[in-house]
Amino acid sequence: MGRQENLLKLKDGSLFDLVVIGGGATGCGTALDAATRGLKVALIEKNDFSEGTSSRSTKLVHGGVRYLEMAVKKLDKVQYKLVKDGLRERYILLKNAPHLSKRLPLVTPLYRWIDIPYIFAGLKLYDILSGKRNIGHSRLLKRKEALRRFPRLKAEGLKAGVLYYDGQFHDARMAVSLALTAEQHGAAIINHVAVSGFLKEEGRISGVQLTDSLNGETWNLRARGVINASGPFVDHVRWMDNPEAPKILSVSTGIHILLDKRFAPPDTGLMIPETEDGRVLFVLPWEGHALVGTTDEPANISEHPKPLESEIDYLVRHVTRYFNLQVERSDVKSVWSGLRPLVSDPKAADTAGLARDHIIEESESGLQTIAGGKWTTYRKMAQDSVDQAIKLFSLYAPKPDCQTENLPIVGGADYNEKNDLALIKKYAFDEDIASHLNQAYGDQAIKVSELAAEGYGARLLEKHPILEAEVVYAVRHEMAERIIDVLARRLSVALLDTESARIAVPRVSEIMANELGWSKERCKEEADLTEKRLTEAL
Ligand SMILES: Cc1cc2nc3c(=O)[nH]c(=O)nc-3n(C[C@H](O)[C@H](O)[C@H](O)COP(=O)(O)OP(=O)(O)OC[C@H]3O[C@@H](n4cnc5c(N)ncnc54)[C@H](O)[C@@H]3O)c2cc1C
Repeated sequence: MGRQENLLKLKDGSLFDLVVIGGGATGCGTALDAATRGLKVALIEKNDFSEGTSSRSTKLVHGGVRYLEMAVKKLDKVQYKLVKDGLRERYILLKNAPHLSKRLPLVTPLYRWIDIPYIFAGLKLYDILSGKRNIGHSRLLKRKEALRRFPRLKAEGLKAGVLYYDGQFHDARMAVSLALTAEQHGAAIINHVAVSGFLKEEGRISGVQLTDSLNGETWNLRARGVINASGPFVDHVRWMDNPEAPKILSVSTGIHILLDKRFAPPDTGLMIPETEDGRVLFVLPWEGHALVGTTDEPANISEHPKPLESEIDYLVRHVTRYFNLQVERSDVKSVWSGLRPLVSDPKAADTAGLARDHIIEESESGLQTIAGGKWTTYRKMAQDSVDQAIKLFSLYAPKPDCQTENLPIVGGADYNEKNDLALIKKYAFDEDIASHLNQAYGDQAIKVSELAAEGYGARLLEKHPILEAEVVYAVRHEMAERIIDVLARRLSVALLDTESARIAVPRVSEIMANELGWSKERCKEEADLTEKRLTEAL
């Protein structure tokens, strides 16, 4: 189904069980959970699916090694439970979206003898806590082996390493795929439409006002219940309901920089457990590049947070510190910033109420807000949110219990990692293209391949394994409406390499104009907007 069909469903005047505000990890997961229980649900995203924090994460599926350290040091049960839940959800995500995620070995370099037993014991405990859902056994690496696995690591002073495992995933495609899976189960999903107000009857929320961000059209949608899953914007949405509502959110930014593949081997990541100023730093292989992050600075809330030069310098300096390779500012191919939503319970009297997990809050007029948590636990958050919504809004769910634990995400059901060989055989693709198609689209890769065979088989960019067919597929099947939707979220080229994204703009514009009937003025507007994003902030 396309955007137009979804718009029709949202305009036919019918009453929805639930409206979910926000198409990031939390909102897409919640819409999927509700739809699979048989509820009539609408998912509303004011920009593109995952255009917020959910496309700007470190892309790790993890229990949180740092939380574990805090759990042990402070004998903190809440942190302990967070790690346990995270490890359980890590396993479920890897199982249900096998094409978009994988197990990633990570090396922790150790430069002090004293750290070796401490870090090794901690990572062994991490294995133990994952129980049956363990995805690989941690082990001590001799200095030589650590250097063999991560050849660019600074050898001077290195004593040993610890190898452990976590998951890695494609966050932006995951959110889009969750939305599409929800649509397959009957949800009406829409991007570039904002919730711009609430409808109320006798003081209770009875629906939402919607505004199409592309043409300014406004209309009303009736619903039995509304869930606010708008990430860093949860307070803004709460204030639309009640301008007096106490703030529950503060944010900090985390940036990532992208370096070329010299900085990370293709199959192993690096985790610096504690930099000199106490942060965790990752250098991870991602889509043929090295992803480095992250920082943690207080920030203002904005849709496209701008990375600061001081934050970029911080990461460049730290990579240089741990690498045998000089890194310059000019090596940075792309940089982006995400907002970390830090939530506190408004009913708690002191800072003990600071939530380390997610919170679910209800307003007097019946707005349910869900905030906090992390990508890895989106499914559990969605389950808790829908369980609560069913009670709060007295909904009738044909399947009252959560259905998503064993539910493959679109592309995942018949995925096989060897399918790239079949694609090479049938379509004569280059190896890198076949492997990329298989991993990005899973069992849907065949549909992209058919478009390639119909005349869109050229590479979009010489240096990247991307086909023109993917732009057509993004428009026809994945609701991409803008050039930047394609370049930053259906494909990841804008997040990897700003210059390559710029080169792709004219051809992407041409294909989209053809598909969507754009005028010359619209093409110009799109090219300008894309340039603004690539120059200022993604
Ligand atoms: C730097 C960084 C690194 C991270 N790394 C990891 C990691 O490696 N692993 C992990 O598990 N977690 C990680 N996280 C956490 C994870 O990314 C977030 O918890 C998660 O993405 C939050 O998703 P969300 O849906 O709540 O928010 P968002 O993704 O921000 O989604 C909210 C959406 O609501 C929309 N919206 C707002 N207002 C409206 C409105 N009025 N109408 C309609 N839509 C609206 C916004 O446009 C936005 O798309 C990281 C976070 C940061 C900041």
